[in-house]
Formats: sequence, C-alpha cells, structure tokens
Amino acid sequence: MSFNLATALRESRRNHPDKPLCHLGARTVSYAGADETSGRIAAVLRALGLERGDAVAVHLPNVPEFLFAYFGILKAGLVMVPLNPLLTAPEIAYHLTDSGARLLLTHEEFADGAVKGAELAGGVPAYVVPRPGSTRRIAGTRPYDELTTADDTGEIEPAGADDTAVLLYTSGTTGRPKGAELTHFQLYMNCTVTGEVFGYRPDDIGLAVLPLFHVFGLSSVLNLAVRHGGTLALVPRFETGAVLDALERHRCTIFAGVPTMYAALLQADTAHRDLSALRVGVSGGAAIPGETIRAFEEKFPGVAVLEGYGLSETASTATFNISPEQRKVLSIGKPIWGVEVRIADDTGAALPPGPDHVGEILIRGHNVMKGYFRRPEETAEALRGGWLHTGDLGYRDDDGYFFVVDRKKDLIIRGGYNVYPREVEEVLYAHPAVAEAAVIGRADDRLGEEVVAVVALCRGAHTTPEELTAHCRQQLAAYKYPREIRIVDALPKGPTGKILKKELRAR
Ligand code: AMP
Repeated sequence: MSFNLATALRESRRNHPDKPLCHLGARTVSYAGADETSGRIAAVLRALGLERGDAVAVHLPNVPEFLFAYFGILKAGLVMVPLNPLLTAPEIAYHLTDSGARLLLTHEEFADGAVKGAELAGGVPAYVVPRPGSTRRIAGTRPYDELTTADDTGEIEPAGADDTAVLLYTSGTTGRPKGAELTHFQLYMNCTVTGEVFGYRPDDIGLAVLPLFHVFGLSSVLNLAVRHGGTLALVPRFETGAVLDALERHRCTIFAGVPTMYAALLQADTAHRDLSALRVGVSGGAAIPGETIRAFEEKFPGVAVLEGYGLSETASTATFNISPEQRKVLSIGKPIWGVEVRIADDTGAALPPGPDHVGEILIRGHNVMKGYFRRPEETAEALRGGWLHTGDLGYRDDDGYFFVVDRKKDLIIRGGYNVYPREVEEVLYAHPAVAEAAVIGRADDRLGEEVVAVVALCRGAHTTPEELTAHCRQQLAAYKYPREIRIVDALPKGPTGKILKKELRAR
C-alpha cells in the first residue's frame, strides 16, 4: 500500500467529487477540482525535468493554490519545502540553497522578496500566483498558470515507506533553520491516527488560519481534512474579524489555533455572531493557560478546547487530549497511538511519574522525522539513543498524562532556584486585566538571572505593574514572582502566533 497523501485526495474525490475541499471567502474548490489541478501541476513539473526526490519550494499564504501545489508535488514524487511568505530575500535564498530547491512557487503579494531570494540562490526559476484579478507580470518570473496547462495524467508516483515528502524548516533546539525530513508514511500516519482518536467526522469543517507552511497547519489541519474527507475554510492571515467571518459563513465545526489566537478571540465582540456549529477547539504550538480555556468555553458554549503537543520533527502531533471527557486541563494529554513519550534525566534514563520528576521530553514512534536534511551530526544529536530529544521539560502523572513545564532554554535559574516561566505566566493570565503574558530571564550580577514579565492588557482594562506584582506575590513563592513587570501594547509573535521570547530577551 502506498501512503501518499495524494492517494487520500484521490480516494476522497472518488467518494465525493463535488464536495468542497476548501473555501476561501466566496471561492470554493471541490475535491475533483483539487485532484485535477494538482494532477496537471504534477505533469508539468515532470515535463520540466524535475525528478523523483527533487525539492520544490512553496512560498504561499493559505490559498487554494497552496493545496494544488502540495498535492501536485506529492503526486510527482517530489519533495515540498513550504516557506513562510514573510521571509526576507536572504532568508529565502538560504532555504532554497539549503534544500537544493529546483523551483519556487510564490505569490504576487510576496513576490519581490522571493524573486530576489531566487536570484541570490543562483537563479532558481520562480512562478507567481497572481492576486485575484491581477494581470501584472513580474520581470524574471513565470505565471503560475503555466504550471496548470498540461493534461491531467492522473498518475500518482507510488511513495516508498522511507521517501521524504516534505522538508519542514525549523530551528529545532539550536542553530540555524534546518529541514526536518518528514516521509509520506509519517505524515499519512499522523493525520490518520489523530483523526481517529479525536473522532474527526467527514462533515467536519475546519478553520484553516494556522499557516499551512507550518507543521501544525499542514498536518493537523490540511492533511487531517483531506485524509478524512472533510472541508476547510481558508483564512490567509490571522485577524479576528476575518476568522469570525469564516467561522460563521462556513459553519466551521473545528477551530485549530495557538494560544494567542484563543486569547485574541476572547477579546472579540461575538454577540451578533452565529457560531453554533463550532464543537471543538484544538490548541497546540505553545502552552495554553487554563484560564484561557475556561474563559473560551464560557464565551463559546458547547465548544471543548483540547490541547495537543508536537513539533515539526514529529509530523505534528505526539500527544493529545482526545476528548472533553478524557482531557486534563493544563496537560498535553497522552501519546497518540504508536507513539511513546519518555521523561528522561540527563543520561537519557526514564524518570518516575510525578511533578517532582521533571526531565526532558523524549519521543519515539512512527511520527519522528527521518532526520535533518544533509545534517548528519545534528540528526545524530537530536535522535541519540533512538529517541527524539525535544528540548522541552515536562513530567508524567500517575494516570499517564504528560505536562510540559517549559522549554529547556526558557528555564530561568534565579539564585540557584529553577523558575519555570510558564507557572508564572499562568498566574498572570488569571488576572482579569491580562490578555497576554510572557516571562523571561534577565541577566543579573547577583542572582544569575532575574524574573521579568511582559504583559499586554485586555482592551479597555487598566492595571499597574505594582498591582500585578502584588497579585503574583500572593500566589507564588518569593523566588518566583517577577521583580519587573512591563506593560506593552502587544507581544511580538512568530508566524504561527507563538510569542517570541527570543525577541523579548533581545529588547
Ligand atoms: P514547532 O517545531 O515550531 O512546532 O515547535 C515545537 C515546540 O512548540 C515544542 O518543542 C514545544 O516547545 C512547543 N509546543 C508545542 N505544543 C505545545 C504545548 N501544547 N505546550 C507547550 N509547548 C508546546
């Protein structure tokens, strides 16, 4: 059996050709439409001389052409390299060179940087998806339409179990971005198992605002829908009005997001919205504060927020709270089927359960990447002993639920005591005026590190650093509460909406 996700698209098409695969505003693409267009792209890519295993970079926001390109690349036996549209030209050049990409597909909105990046990388041919209605031709590029002009051959290159399907660029725990090599099998298994444990229904309509170039969006939103014959409502960038419009218009049943998206939706006025179709919120990518889950479920009755955990290196999900009945708030749930999680000390030995036994989270199973593309040393380091070393710290409880305490690199050591920023952030989030909070360490001559909090307030709310300090002092041991609290308009965020602590530290 071939585990190519393009085969899943073909099967879903056979079962229901006219069913919408995705919507983008008023535009709808059926399963048959996506299968045909991606088939033509596969044929053109082959005709251009690309050979099995060659990389193609896809530099697109969440638009239907992302899906067509992705499945076209998979059908042709090529490797997709998704790139964040916001990368600068030198960054694009780095990714193109590192992955050896032979072709770049970009979008008119982001084409200037992409074209420069493609030139810097030695003249990688660039194709451009136009803005709706645009006829602009960009010098040195070719129009996307040229990729779709072949006759659909209908062929899908069978995928070997170990064939790489996607190179997902990530910094991992250290260093420059590197391509996590995910195979067809790993991607296929991850969305199959996740969908089954979580009871994905073919009539589910998922909101796709998480970027599809990131593992969470690609695997847990797009692959999940295609594998189980569902529908997606695409939203190209996070903006609360656009998200609420899409949720309402397409009667979405599933929302998948990172915690800052939940925090933003909590601030929105939803009084006149009909969001009654929504049944599940999936959260991942960072720890979601318990208070955010509580407030979200109060604001959106009937919705259960379920937290999962994973990395680019684990084809998305490693652990999940599979249902409202079986979840534990603040926990990342249990390992999904076929995946093992171990809490290890510095020697790699397993630690016993209990919050006093915090260690590094190690993962083994069908979801763990093949390695980092052309980086044998970093691969050997990350996969030493046959386990993926995540760089995250956590513990397991007696019932087998796992908890992330923090990232190893975010741990603050103040005067010899470990302060886990996440614990302090939970306390800050419980304050009614706080919309977003991040706790970081600042170098300190006397204590080594000092605890600093940066917070953004809810719209219209007022408080002072002194009041927030008093609130933290009431609930946290003396060595943990932040000695400095800064109130800012907004926290810096990465492409998926995760708070960028690195940037806060640099400030
Ligand atoms: P990425 O490779 O960009 O998906 O980032 C993976 C990292 O996100 C993990 O190593 C964790 O540090 C973090 N992460 C993902 N899910 C969670 C979660 N539910 N709770 C805490 N951290 C998470």
